[in-house]
Amino acid sequence: MACFSFHPRKVLTTGDGGMLTTNDPKLDRQFRLWRQHGMGLTDLARHAASTVIFEEYLTTGYNYRMTDIQAAIGLEQLKKLAGMVVKRRHIAARYQELLCDVSGLDLPFAPASAKTNWQSYPVRLAASAGQSQRNLMQLLQNKGVACRRGIMNAHQEPPYSQAGWRLPHSETSRDQVVLLPLFCGLDEESQLQVARAVREVCAS
Ligand SMILES: *Cc1c(COP(=O)(O)O)cnc(C)c1O
Repeated sequence: MACFSFHPRKVLTTGDGGMLTTNDPKLDRQFRLWRQHGMGLTDLARHAASTVIFEEYLTTGYNYRMTDIQAAIGLEQLKKLAGMVVKRRHIAARYQELLCDVSGLDLPFAPASAKTNWQSYPVRLAASAGQSQRNLMQLLQNKGVACRRGIMNAHQEPPYSQAGWRLPHSETSRDQVVLLPLFCGLDEESQLQVARAVREVCAS
């Protein structure tokens, strides 16, 4: 079973929503029931029938439906997926060239056993950088470069913070990682501008 997000920041987006895939027919059936109020017949089956048939509600369900309009967008996006991933890999490789000698900045790398689609381009501020994440982000924003912090940690947010978990590597990652702009429409000139801004801010 696999789970995909089509949130706007993902490689493939439908505006929002997501998808589950499975090769287990029982799970497939269960998910389809949960998705649409536990309805035992699809709308399509009912509308296509030449005799009047009524659906049953076989289980407690929800409304997790994606709209047909989103699905149509998703199908078109899917045709472009391979090309979009090539583009993202190209942009990531270019960042690597442009930023590899910036001191205080650790660049991401993919181990030989894995290949990333570069949903994001995370750079890490080395502890020796003497630059805080927030400060770096503000200085970049002042130069017109939008970036985001790295992934947040559930255990540091209010619903879980009382539980007293300690995950030191996750915690330092949260506080040291900044995501640089990476999207299919990022052209060479804009990427150079981003790299220049990062270089200037790290040198300051
Ligand atoms: C993917 C992602 C989301 C959206 O995830 P959903 O499961 O679609 O809600 C939000 N924030 C970040 C940082 C993400 O990478």
